[in-house]
Amino acid sequence: MIDSHCHLADEAFEPDLAEVVDRARQAGLRHALCVLAAGNAAEARRADRVATLWPEVRFAAGVHPHEAGRFAGQPATVVDVVRAAVADRPGVRALGEIGLDYHYDVAPRAVQQLVFGRQVTLARELALPVVIHTREATDDTFAILREAGEGQVRGVFHCFSGDAGMARAVLDLGFYVSFAGVVTFPRAEDIRGAARIVPLDRLLVETDAPYLAPVPHRGQRNEPARVVHVVEALARLRGEPEATVAAGAVAAYEALFRP
Ligand SMILES: [Zn+2]
Ligand SMILES: [Zn+2]
Repeated sequence: MIDSHCHLADEAFEPDLAEVVDRARQAGLRHALCVLAAGNAAEARRADRVATLWPEVRFAAGVHPHEAGRFAGQPATVVDVVRAAVADRPGVRALGEIGLDYHYDVAPRAVQQLVFGRQVTLARELALPVVIHTREATDDTFAILREAGEGQVRGVFHCFSGDAGMARAVLDLGFYVSFAGVVTFPRAEDIRGAARIVPLDRLLVETDAPYLAPVPHRGQRNEPARVVHVVEALARLRGEPEATVAAGAVAAYEALFRP
């Protein structure tokens, strides 16, 4: 089992990180991708502890669309911040999470687009996959990936929240699709439709912990061990054994992130 996207270095885990890691291991998790905010020094210190407690963990580093406003007027400098975050940590296997969020619009859209595009270009240069966060910004996300990635960049759409049609577009672009606990939420029929059509070799599972706890833990702090509920839900709606889904997700994780 794997968790392809969690924020284990978040301050929410500071009090009991060792127990959280123990529970993940007991749940059968071998690997996890811990997503870091490039340039966040406090989180970087906590990430050192994550790496000590769970040496198999690998990292992604990037500037989230919510943070893009820091680079308004000087979007090119995002490249220096992300490059430094990658250089400082040997376990970085991806740039992310990066993308566009037009639901919250925390940063102006034009700035989000520039900051995202620069990071996609950097991913191409560094030959690293990207972890994409996109919300209500499907067309612009694809346009920037095509233009800045020039067909050379691969990655994953994390916490996939589109329908089957969007999943097909993601697959056509050569990307992976990662499902989180949202797939267990009652009103997620479109997302479940997408989860039925993604081939096993492009399917990833994640918690996005500490966010997005799946049913039956909804509303609580989420943690990597709970990825088993995502696998259960996917197995049920795809009509496949849980072991098949879990093995597929592990193989896809290894193919994409080379942990
Ligand atoms: Zn996200
Ligand atoms: Zn996340």
